[in-house]
Amino acid sequence: MNYDHILIRYGEISTKGRNRNKFVDKLRKSVRIALAPFPKVKIRAERDRMYVKVNGEDAQEINKALKNIFGIQSFSPAIKVKRDIEQMKVAALALVKSFYKEGKTFKITPKRSDKTFELDTEGINHTFGGHILENIAGIKVNVKNPDINLKIEVRSDAIYMSCENILGAGGLPVGSSGKAMLMLSGGIDSPVAGYFTMKRGVEIEAVHFFSPPYTSERSKEKVIDLAKKLAEIFGSMKLHIVPFTTIQQTIKEQIPENYSMTSTRRFMLRITDEIRKKQEALAIITGDNLGQVASQTLESMYAINEVTNTPILRPLLTMDKNDIIKIAKDIDTYDISIRPFEDCCTIFVPSSPKTKPKREKVQHYESFFDFEHLIQEAVQKTETLTIKPDSKQDSEFDDLF
Ligand code: ATP
Ligand code: MG
Repeated sequence: MNYDHILIRYGEISTKGRNRNKFVDKLRKSVRIALAPFPKVKIRAERDRMYVKVNGEDAQEINKALKNIFGIQSFSPAIKVKRDIEQMKVAALALVKSFYKEGKTFKITPKRSDKTFELDTEGINHTFGGHILENIAGIKVNVKNPDINLKIEVRSDAIYMSCENILGAGGLPVGSSGKAMLMLSGGIDSPVAGYFTMKRGVEIEAVHFFSPPYTSERSKEKVIDLAKKLAEIFGSMKLHIVPFTTIQQTIKEQIPENYSMTSTRRFMLRITDEIRKKQEALAIITGDNLGQVASQTLESMYAINEVTNTPILRPLLTMDKNDIIKIAKDIDTYDISIRPFEDCCTIFVPSSPKTKPKREKVQHYESFFDFEHLIQEAVQKTETLTIKPDSKQDSEFDDLF
């Protein structure tokens, strides 16, 4: 079948009342970015539907791109027909024929968004159902569980007919729920945490702590590659790379070994929070998963979280590792994450980190040295890259600070 349109249903955003226009705008932007490789398509957004005019591009490939967009509940390749009964009959028959095999059943689902159309729902069923029954030998109607469901949508401008309903990614369009900073390591968890948060409509900027020469350029590349994957969702993403060597060395010198990890996490959080303020974001996301490692016990979180009252989002907190790995594979980050390059935490990790650190103790240990100027210096020397999903990078030293 030669589809000329794709009809997109919004799902969850249609419940958003007054904010609806904003949501539709964001979704339109996501669709435009995802369909950039198909320059001839035309996108038209209405209150309850979006229409992509295929315009000679490859409808199958467009479908693949639409499947990944947050905020799309489902979509249907469709044909657009004039509001003319005879033309509609021809199109309805051709469409059902293209799906028909011996023994298959069908029904018609009319939707009259425009009530001025000459046929009511029953009339549509009758006219086009009758036409199909007369012209396809052996086809039967099955209203409860049809093999072929021909949807006929009557709009004021035209009629849209479709037989397929393809599930979208669900969620909310990216950018419709504000912005947050993702603490992105080179591991498996944090990219998945970023993905889930984006799925709820949050725009993200990533922050990565980098400790040369203890961590190599290859480990930085790995993080850039992870950021590129996440950037596919919204076309581009900022990645802030924080030079962390001096702070890690100072922690090693100043803080008892079993508290060094707690302290490292506290400084990472403080620095991320400083960058967050500058970037006007409202929350911080981590890949923390309860009980997985020493820094992820409740006692640890209690000691680490003390340094800020900015909301910390931990979308993976209660998930099982196997489920996280499955998602990492689905979103194509897993193979990048398992590349064998150490990140800064792995290298400085103490042999026996405290699993139940105390706030008072870590405060006490940190009080002997003025870390504040090191924090400011790290923030100032942070390099900001604009990550694009394709191989061409616009990497630049943004003078944001
Ligand atoms: P991940 O798989 O995301 O690396 P993990 O299981 O290795 O997580 P940790 O090393 O304890 O767990 O890290 C917990 C979280 O702290 C990470 O998910 C990430 O959000 C943040 N984090 C750790 N290291 C870094 C880093 N070098 N840069 C930025 N964020 C980091
Ligand atoms: Mg890690």
